[in-house]
Amino acid sequence: MSLLERMASNILHVPNKRSFMIPVYQPYFSGREKYYVNQCLDSTWISSKGEFIDRFERSFCQFIDADQATSVCNGTVAIHLALEAIGIGPGDEVIVPTLTYIASVNTILQTGATPIFVDSIENTWQIDPQDIKRKITSRTKAVLIVHLYGLPCDMDAVMAICEEHNLLLVEDCAEAVGTRYKGRHVGTFGDVATFSFFGNKTITTGEGGMVVSKDSAVMARARHLKSQGVSPIREYWHDSLAYNYRMTNICAAIGLAQLENVEVILARKRQIADCYRKGLVGLPLKTHDELQDTVHSFWMCSLVVNDAKVRDSLREWLKQADVETRPLFFPSHTLPHCSTGEHFPIAESLSARGINLPSYPALSNPEIELICSYIRAYFG
Ligand SMILES: *Cc1c(COP(=O)(O)O)cnc(C)c1O
Repeated sequence: MSLLERMASNILHVPNKRSFMIPVYQPYFSGREKYYVNQCLDSTWISSKGEFIDRFERSFCQFIDADQATSVCNGTVAIHLALEAIGIGPGDEVIVPTLTYIASVNTILQTGATPIFVDSIENTWQIDPQDIKRKITSRTKAVLIVHLYGLPCDMDAVMAICEEHNLLLVEDCAEAVGTRYKGRHVGTFGDVATFSFFGNKTITTGEGGMVVSKDSAVMARARHLKSQGVSPIREYWHDSLAYNYRMTNICAAIGLAQLENVEVILARKRQIADCYRKGLVGLPLKTHDELQDTVHSFWMCSLVVNDAKVRDSLREWLKQADVETRPLFFPSHTLPHCSTGEHFPIAESLSARGINLPSYPALSNPEIELICSYIRAYFG
């Protein structure tokens, strides 16, 4: 029986059950994770030097078809590092979708720049290119896009705007390992891109992240800043204010093992999405589907219902059935430290009506069918 078949029929060992019978996410280890981690321990290379750093970075580049990548200790600092490496700072405006995980916005604030929020598209949940255009000013320096929940943004439209207005493009690909637009993996379009390998992301290193750029100068700045701004030619000579954002060899070892199975993980996630779509057909809700010319990596299988009250009571119904779900992110402009007093009707509405369903690779078909039957029962 192939690994993919074993995953679908749920005869994998699932270590320590979480608080819900069916959680939203759990990491998936079926490869050489332990073997590689033990190599780190046996060799004593457990800190941020060691062979796995380079192997993981090279293997990641190969997977997304990028020239260069540098690993970091989480996906949030990856964004901060990327923004600094392309020169974002005080006085700059960075356009960002309001509907995103807060890290996309906090890191803009941390550079001293101002996030300028943009609404989403109803159909795709991604950044609205028309609204980007409306928000461009003489201070706009960059657009930070987020491929939310694993579906790519409208890259033709976004790239055309950045080109026309001479704006830098940053891609937050934290939720988008395996996501493609017209055949190209996301993260290879922008001036710089970032990934996250948190425990609930498509591939994980526990905590971890990656910065990718085709611009060697940007990569050199990122490597310099992530390692205390140390001179590459003079020992202990630190020539600028910088950080320790390095990944450990242990994390990279886990990451390398994860990458060796990434195609299986992605294939299983597609099957999971398909199983949900079929199981939920005909109900008053809309699943977050793949679009033409894209590969949706289905980090989170998600849906929107018709109104917020239904969303909340459906989530409660599933909770009673021991099925964990998540609400969509709160739009950033509604959070206390980011509040601008603006309104973004689409983002606000999606956020209030959306649910992320259990989406982990080891979720079996019978479990998905069970979840779908609970949802069907809710709608009577
Ligand atoms: C997970 C995530 C991040 C941050 O990654 P961490 O590794 O948790 O720091 C950034 N942006 C988005 C959109 C994310 O989903």
